[in-house]
Amino acid sequence: MDPIHPDQRGLLLELSERADETQRADETQRADERHSRQIRFAPFGAEGQARLAKAHALVVGIGALGSHVAQTLARAGIGRLTLVDRDVVDLSNLQRQVLFESADAHAGLPKASTAACAIARIDPGVEVVALDTEFDAALWHRLDRVPDLLIDGTDNFASRFAINAVSIATGVPWIHGAAVGAEGRAMVIRPGIDACLRCILPDAPTDGGGCDALGVLAPAVAHVAAFQATEALKLLGGRDAAVTRGLFVIDVWQGRFDLLFREAPPRADCEACGSRAPLAARTPATTHQANTASSYRSASLCGRNAIQVRPTSPRTLDLAAVAVTARAAGHLVDDLGGRALRVRVGELRVTLFPDGRALVFGTEQADRAIAVHGTLVGDHPD
Ligand SMILES: [Zn+2]
Repeated sequence: MDPIHPDQRGLLLELSERADETQRADETQRADERHSRQIRFAPFGAEGQARLAKAHALVVGIGALGSHVAQTLARAGIGRLTLVDRDVVDLSNLQRQVLFESADAHAGLPKASTAACAIARIDPGVEVVALDTEFDAALWHRLDRVPDLLIDGTDNFASRFAINAVSIATGVPWIHGAAVGAEGRAMVIRPGIDACLRCILPDAPTDGGGCDALGVLAPAVAHVAAFQATEALKLLGGRDAAVTRGLFVIDVWQGRFDLLFREAPPRADCEACGSRAPLAARTPATTHQANTASSYRSASLCGRNAIQVRPTSPRTLDLAAVAVTARAAGHLVDDLGGRALRVRVGELRVTLFPDGRALVFGTEQADRAIAVHGTLVGDHPD
């Protein structure tokens, strides 16, 4: 082929720049059309939309609340979503966790990356970062971009107080949400402006408290998630004056809706955000207690008859090598597309992640889970 003459090169560059410009204009027009009904809502408008397109929300827990809110924000045109979840999709999730399908549950796929695939099908223009891991201070420090907002999609107080601590330490606002049975609650928490979770729940257990597989109605979840998503649109769209201040509480079965702690400011004597709070309470904390006698720590997964086993220091597992060894030992192994490995060991089902973490289903005994994990990854923890 003849070399391109320098003059021609300039022309080609100009043509390609013009093509890029046209493509960008097309994309903007398509995005405007996609979000046109929201832009026509005057209190949000084009300015709110433009701000939302540059915004970044981190959703902690991609279960019922998390998948609802992530889906709504993706459809609304948020710029970036970071999705964090440590769990895999289970058949009992599908009644309310709107981003998952039967095949995801049958394969036992990790929630965050599976939700990211679903969102890419909804709008490929949304940048999604999926982290199939646990949310804690260490993860926060590994984020390449600090989010503008945190969304609570968790199911336990330990995780919520971890989010509360990160929010107080960094100044990043968060939106609390919870739903059990027919009841739900949600609240916007902006450090320095609103009461924090500890301000309104001074006596709630920090270690997670009780844990049961309680029933929940999908519409209760939908109400709470709708509140969270609406307030997220206000905050990320720069419509702070419209933010609802107070604890939104509902009982969809009784038909009760209320707003408690209206306009409540931070409490001066709050042990988390108050002026006399110990420094430790105002720095990001981890959600789990380390087992000091071991290089692994374990946590029970709420209502799942499962134990999470996690190395205390970060490591990288060669999943392909683990699969070869496990198959040679006679175990059934499923490769979940490089995102995780599912291994059946007797009556236990183990999902192993590339960061060395494992979910061991079929036991509530931490020692047993740690031992099985050690056998699979070739470690012998003391
Ligand atoms: Zn507080």
